[in-house]
Amino acid sequence: MSWQVRTMGDVWRFTAVIAAVMLLGSLALRFLMLPVDLAMRTLLPGSAMAILLGGPIAWVVGQRMREVSRLGERLEHALRHDLLTGVHTRLSFYRTAKAPGDRPRAVIVTDIDNFKGLNDRYGHFAGDQALRQFAAILTAHCRASDIVARFGGEEFVIVILDAGAAEGLAIAERLCARVRASPIFFGEHRLRLTASFGVADLPPGGEMDTAIQQADRALYRAKHTGRDRACLFDPARDGAAIPMGTAAA
Ligand code: GH3
Ligand code: MG
Ligand code: MG
Repeated sequence: MSWQVRTMGDVWRFTAVIAAVMLLGSLALRFLMLPVDLAMRTLLPGSAMAILLGGPIAWVVGQRMREVSRLGERLEHALRHDLLTGVHTRLSFYRTAKAPGDRPRAVIVTDIDNFKGLNDRYGHFAGDQALRQFAAILTAHCRASDIVARFGGEEFVIVILDAGAAEGLAIAERLCARVRASPIFFGEHRLRLTASFGVADLPPGGEMDTAIQQADRALYRAKHTGRDRACLFDPARDGAAIPMGTAAA
């Protein structure tokens, strides 16, 4: 039996149930082990003692269970959400992306342009602010059914559900324009941010890691042809991706 004690109401219920169990247990033991007249005479003090001992102990245990449950929820949240930007973590990405494997998807890999320069010039806090805003733009322009994940540093992966290559490219171009048009405000500074995007098709039954690798190659081309643009994976120009046997868990 698993007993979830999440709220104060749960703590009260837990306390009441444990106190009731202790009361019934003490009654049963008394009538099983003592002569009836003695059991009757000790009924009131014995029952009071069971409740007075069991109630507070159950309350303290219930409170601890509530704390453990809350810690578990916070840990689960931290595993699923990137601390800085709030988008999916890599772990959560793979868990979530498994779901609709029979529907076409477009995979976009994006990376902020010259981000090291921004950090070096304006400091790490400005960089963090840029990262938060960048993630917010990506999330705001994707549907709830799409997945936005931070894979590391200033690199994000987006999965667009029910989209092919052409639609994925159009969305990436739109995101690219949105990022370009959205300055970062940091103190008195108004910073301009751009990002590059690589797009690949993930057909039904396709391997997620292969599509990510293809999108990454297209991103590489976007970087090397001037940045601030979106490129669609093209095996003729980007080279074939190495097939991946297993997806990261
Ligand atoms: P490119 O256009 O080729 O992508 O150049 P870049 O400067 O963006 O790429 P590079 O990989 O050289 O630099 C990435 C930088 O991202 C370096 C690192 O300090 C910074 N970075 C990684 N994670 C964080 C973070 O959480 N916060 C901040 N502020 N910076 C981060
Ligand atoms: Mg970069
Ligand atoms: Mg990078």
